[in-house]
Amino acid sequence: MPAEPKNLKQIDADSILHPSTNANEFAKTGSRIIQSGKGIYLEDTDGNRLIDAVAGLWCVNVGYGRPEIANAMHKAATDLSYYHTFTGMSNVPQIELAERLLAIAPNNMSKVFFASGGSDGNDSLMKIVWYYHNLIGKPEKRKIISRWQSYHGTSIATASLTGLPSFHKDFNLPIEGVLHTESPDYFRHGKPGESELDFSKRRAAELEALILQHGPETVGAFIAEPVMGAGGVITPPEGYFAEIQKVTKKYDILFIADEVVCGYGRLGTWFGSEVYDIKPDMITTAKALTSGYFPFSASFITEQIWDVIKQGSAKYGSFAHGYTYAGHPIGAAVAMANLDIIENDGLIAQSADVGQYFHTQLNQRFANDPFVAQVRGQGMLAAVQLMQDKDSKTFFDPAIKIAPSVTVKCYQNGLIARPLPSVDSVAFSPPLVTSKAQVDDIVNIFEASVRDVMQQHG
Ligand code: PLP
Repeated sequence: MPAEPKNLKQIDADSILHPSTNANEFAKTGSRIIQSGKGIYLEDTDGNRLIDAVAGLWCVNVGYGRPEIANAMHKAATDLSYYHTFTGMSNVPQIELAERLLAIAPNNMSKVFFASGGSDGNDSLMKIVWYYHNLIGKPEKRKIISRWQSYHGTSIATASLTGLPSFHKDFNLPIEGVLHTESPDYFRHGKPGESELDFSKRRAAELEALILQHGPETVGAFIAEPVMGAGGVITPPEGYFAEIQKVTKKYDILFIADEVVCGYGRLGTWFGSEVYDIKPDMITTAKALTSGYFPFSASFITEQIWDVIKQGSAKYGSFAHGYTYAGHPIGAAVAMANLDIIENDGLIAQSADVGQYFHTQLNQRFANDPFVAQVRGQGMLAAVQLMQDKDSKTFFDPAIKIAPSVTVKCYQNGLIARPLPSVDSVAFSPPLVTSKAQVDDIVNIFEASVRDVMQQHG
């Protein structure tokens, strides 16, 4: 017999170290236990039916409970439950998936490396940056520049890349060789009277100054999310990536596009790089590659990098990197079924269309709201900026924890939205299957929750 929900919460509190959870507050509130999901809806063990307007952690793009994926998973597990991909071993699903992904990946990627998540995908690319530069005789070129406010994972190396101080503090991070340049957050950091384009040029000049300070011969790569996710849903200001890429090109610095959130339709295109004309040398994707049904990531490299890796094998033997679950046949089959759904259901076009509707609704609804200073995002990715006083750009007292207060109220009202406390914002990334009528439900519940909370704190 399964334990009663009440017991489950106690066992949970007594036994689990939850990721990204405040250990003290959690001890008071306990867990919320999700027990089932269908489409955009979840049910918890307290009997709440919830709209998941975040798609889990920005990943369940095709919605919950898709039988096509469950069937593919079942078949794959029955055919070949596991086999490794080391020493040239392979399996049919990963081969089919690789061919399909290389056909849609931006900027002519040549090879794909499979792993289990965004962190190990980015970790792998960091190692390839180092390996590549060692092999081409530039061993000094090993520093990697990331941006404040970015999110690239939580492994030792990728938490270092992540530009959110809470991921560094008391973890002895960032590691040596990871540098951070200023964030593209025009709303927060644009100077009075400065245009977006001028701000972008300033950011590019600051990047160049950082490179020159450390010496261009020591900088190997620059990594960026097309739209920053966890750091605030920060869309790049006008001209930003064009200006940044002038600098990375000038100093022969590899560009890594972290498409872990943006990839596979989130912005209304297959990849975020398409929206902002990013020409990456390497790309990481994960999350929506399998819509979260299986932990799986795909990182891409260009032919130029592949050529050098081949030289490495001539020199050292094997490319000595990889994971037990790399190219897992079940994960690859799930990814194939997931891509089938994205294509057959026209979810890229739907994401663009419904995403535009979502932004229009949020903008209209909050246009005259004294506590909403900005609605930002792209496609089915949005954030609402809360502010004590938008005219004077006065932020709420951090002690109020305004964004978590709003999302707790949303939950009580049947909606999961994501608080981004570092920027006093509430984020949305609903499954791409969300209809316009469901967007109306999301916006209605959110609006009522904001009004409720502002009555107490505004
Ligand atoms: N990169 C980005 C942009 C992310 O948003 C995330 C996770 O949210 C990661 C990397 C890390 O992925 P994972 O949690 O699968 O390791």
